[in-house]
Amino acid sequence: MFSKGTALPPRSLTALIIGITVVPLATLLWLGWRLLEQDRILENQQARQRVELAADLVVAALQRVLSSSEQRLAAGGDQWPEGTVVVTFRGGLVEASPKERVAYLPVVKPLREAPDSTFARGDELEFRKRDQTAAIQVFRELARSPDPAVRAGALLRLARNLFSAGRFHEALAAYASLSEMEGVAISGVPAGLIGRYARCKLLEETKRGTDLRSEAMLLGTGLHTGRWALTAPVYWLYAGDAARWTGSPRERQAELFGEAAGALWERWNSMPPGKRAPSGRESLTVDGQTLAVLWQISAGSFRALLAAPGFVKSQWLEAVAPVIKEQRILLGLRDSEGKSVLGTFGTGEALSATRSASEAALPWSVAAWSVDPPGQGRAFVLRRQLLIAGFVLLVSVALVASFLIFRAVSREYAVARLQSDFVAAVSHEFRTPLTALRQFTDMLREHGDLTDDRRRICYDAQSRATDRLTRLVESLLDFGRMEAGARPYVFGRRNCRELVDRVVADFRGEAQAAGYQIEFHGNGSAWIEADGEALSRAIWNLLDNAVKYSPDHRTVEVGLSRGEATVSISVRDRGIGVPAHERTAIFAKFQRGDEARTRGIKGTGIGLAMVEHIVKAHRGRVELESEPGKGSTFTIVLPAEE
Ligand code: ADP
Repeated sequence: MFSKGTALPPRSLTALIIGITVVPLATLLWLGWRLLEQDRILENQQARQRVELAADLVVAALQRVLSSSEQRLAAGGDQWPEGTVVVTFRGGLVEASPKERVAYLPVVKPLREAPDSTFARGDELEFRKRDQTAAIQVFRELARSPDPAVRAGALLRLARNLFSAGRFHEALAAYASLSEMEGVAISGVPAGLIGRYARCKLLEETKRGTDLRSEAMLLGTGLHTGRWALTAPVYWLYAGDAARWTGSPRERQAELFGEAAGALWERWNSMPPGKRAPSGRESLTVDGQTLAVLWQISAGSFRALLAAPGFVKSQWLEAVAPVIKEQRILLGLRDSEGKSVLGTFGTGEALSATRSASEAALPWSVAAWSVDPPGQGRAFVLRRQLLIAGFVLLVSVALVASFLIFRAVSREYAVARLQSDFVAAVSHEFRTPLTALRQFTDMLREHGDLTDDRRRICYDAQSRATDRLTRLVESLLDFGRMEAGARPYVFGRRNCRELVDRVVADFRGEAQAAGYQIEFHGNGSAWIEADGEALSRAIWNLLDNAVKYSPDHRTVEVGLSRGEATVSISVRDRGIGVPAHERTAIFAKFQRGDEARTRGIKGTGIGLAMVEHIVKAHRGRVELESEPGKGSTFTIVLPAEE
């Protein structure tokens, strides 16, 4: 009865229980999974809608910012923030405002120049006659002319001759005067620029490093702050040397604006007047940098606001930053050539929405990505957690319920098995004495000539079989009453030694017939409060077991001892013993040991259950010491009476 296999319900029943558990559970899980999946799809759709909406909001915000700049452009203001410049094409001319932010322009107004003939006499003295003193005289004279154009040409020549004559300081001073001149040119180059550059050259040739650097600084500043209205070729002619002398980097932004103005100019001129749109927003990439351009045409003139990348980021995008933050998105901008102006387009699996430049009516195409990874919306996460928790709970409840059902069924099944085993065992128990009775009765009936001795043997055998049957029936009836709680105990003060003595003597008669020795050790009297009949049955059952389970060693020892407040009755055999794992269970009704079954030892499994019942009713306990293969000692410990 102890091996698990026999306690479990048959396979079909187990399979049925598993089936009715697993199928609904699997369905439940599948439904849960589908629900989560649907929820995720819905969440993704909502997230997508949110991103689309966010993209629209950002586009609208950018449009608002750009519109306000456009309004200022249309109003014709001249206070433009750092990082921007306004260029105007009117007639054949180009203007920049503020002009110091543009290094060069596509076209410049030609400056006044004195014709070469003005200096013919001086040039002849200088180059043909090689009379520098006379030439200096002539040019000094001309340098006092009221006409600035003549003065400029004369100062240049004067300084040249002075330098050739070794009059370095005077040459430098003449160039200084030249560098201060405005509005006049020499050979198409502004006179002021020529003067400043010539001073630098002179200082370089004479190796005056410190003076050269400060002079070159003035030259550089003048160059890229639009002091002289220059075209790109003229600018580049001088900018390289200026940067070399100062050792400081060139002014990239002013050059960028110059380059952009050139590109716009070219396009403006190549577009037939009829096909020109009235206004536009676009991005313009020059030298790897992307500028934003807002332009308008009114009354035949073209006006464009150029915004450098730094300005776009720090002003325009900063203005829409609150929207970006609020919408929990990242923003990406791309120029018309697809080059990234801000952010990197397409980050992994993040949800995104894009608007092309023409769709958005902006200089750039716009992309918005959700900051939250897909499926991570707070409400969704909460819902999912609740759902999962719900499923876990349901599955746990279902599993626990199935386990409990399975256990209950297993127990019922085990009890049913035990009972059917019990019925089989009882029938078996009955069969042995009944067979004996029948045999001896037949013998007496059929052999009328039996001797007296033989007759006595037959009667003795019949009597033993009857006793056995009686005990069996009584034992079963007693067990039934105990089970029903209807066994009345009649307690009285008894001498335990006498009681054990009597049971041993009764039992000895039976045991000796089967070749067993029952030894009783114990003397003196030990008083107890007991139901004599019940306690005798308990001791009898222990003796009966001791004999049954000791097939090879045929001596059983019964002991009686007194403790401080207890009286112990022990029954010791040297039989098969009880394995440790069975030592508690064998006291339960119908429980039989594995060894008892395999060896085919007959029994009903109620003997020890009765012993325990009776002993407990006596406020005592049953102890068991045993070693498989070496024997067992069952001890009934009862409270002693004085
Ligand atoms: P039964 O003897 O009819 O099987 P019991 O309740 O008397 O039922 O005993 C229960 C089980 O305990 C036995 O089947 C046997 O395995 C074990 N057992 C009882 N007494 C002994 C003993 N003296 N030696 C070994 N095993 C025993």
